[in-house]
Amino acid sequence: MTVRPMHTVAAFDAERVRRDFPILAQQVNGHPLVYLDNAATTQKPECVIEAIANYYRRDNANVHRGVHTLSDRATHSFEQARHALAGFLGSPRPEQVIWTSGTTAAINLVAYSWGHSTLKPGDRVLVSWLEHHSNIVPWQLVAAATGAEVVPIPVTDDGEIDLEALAGLLDARVKMVAVNHVSNALGTVNPVAEIVRLAKSVDALVLLDGAQSVAHWPVDVTSLGCDFFVMSGHKLFGPTGTGVLWGREHLLEAMPPFLGGGEMIDRVGFPTTTFSGLPFKFEAGTPNIAGAIGLAAAVDYLGGIDRRAAAEHEAALLARTLELAAEVDGLRRIGRPAHAAGIFSFLLEGTHPSDVGMLLDQQGIAVRTGHHCAQPLMDRLGIPGTVRASYSIYNTQEDVTRLFEGIRKAKRLFA
Ligand code: PMP
Repeated sequence: MTVRPMHTVAAFDAERVRRDFPILAQQVNGHPLVYLDNAATTQKPECVIEAIANYYRRDNANVHRGVHTLSDRATHSFEQARHALAGFLGSPRPEQVIWTSGTTAAINLVAYSWGHSTLKPGDRVLVSWLEHHSNIVPWQLVAAATGAEVVPIPVTDDGEIDLEALAGLLDARVKMVAVNHVSNALGTVNPVAEIVRLAKSVDALVLLDGAQSVAHWPVDVTSLGCDFFVMSGHKLFGPTGTGVLWGREHLLEAMPPFLGGGEMIDRVGFPTTTFSGLPFKFEAGTPNIAGAIGLAAAVDYLGGIDRRAAAEHEAALLARTLELAAEVDGLRRIGRPAHAAGIFSFLLEGTHPSDVGMLLDQQGIAVRTGHHCAQPLMDRLGIPGTVRASYSIYNTQEDVTRLFEGIRKAKRLFA
């Protein structure tokens, strides 16, 4: 007798989700659009577009200092958005959520503010070979200025962080371990709990680059155990130019301001100026008010989605992708992480990634080609770049089928 499980995850209706994203209902080069460049940026649901338009239609004003009604409304919505992001990330307090223009800006903020005030000659910052340039270059800049050293954590041929090698690198010189949650180039899901445990054994801080994880499953900064978490709104169905730095309160409190200007001050005078508390200390200048409101709308939208079912749906898309990939002679998957998010990087023997990308585009299929801002990783793997298809909640099995029709066509034409 077969026993049926009492609870099964309801089938995820990607077609229905897809209808929430107006941009997807178009033809590109005479074909229905198949958008598989979600790791670069995700599309925006109608409710996000509406939230931004409505803000500009009804409430637009500068925040925090105004006494008039519109300013009050704008301030309320802007701070509500911070609350929404705090809830989304599991932040104990909304003040720990600092608005930035994205992941890059958030990492630069930490590297500059924490790094300049903390790092000394001989100190070390560990970053992995899997990192996006934005989690390498800011550390190199601060290292050059402070005499600290940036040391890469080796990765295996499968594209996973080599945990033994990481353990071997850890000593009292290491002050920061900065790694991504998910690799944008290969889809590797890094073992955060283990990395945090190892880093904490030498009292190093951990910065987690969540640019590629937040759109795929719920994250909780408290249970992740990291000290800083950074993300971009545009990869989470929100607008470009938005993002968040989350940090532990005592660390953020101790860090000096990064940018100086309006909004971040308590009292300006000659010769001394005093600064606001959190979060405003790090938010100099007029913020991206509409962007924050749009990002909160995206988070609200995700609140209406069964995210476990969505993650299973994306896993099923990747599983089908790998099955079809195995049937294509000369197709080499790049990276074989045991735990991967919905990202598929590959090379097709005898072809150049950009030729494959252009041929796919002619068939209405959008993929990314190149080094994916991960040149050290490409060097490590001995390749110039890859073709990358990256999935999101609105992709369907039909999209996977279309991708492989396109790949077969590229193979016939080029290989
Ligand atoms: N880190 C990772 C892992 C990324 O995928 C990206 C964007 N591709 C970034 C950082 C940089 O994000 P942004 O350009 O939005 O600042």
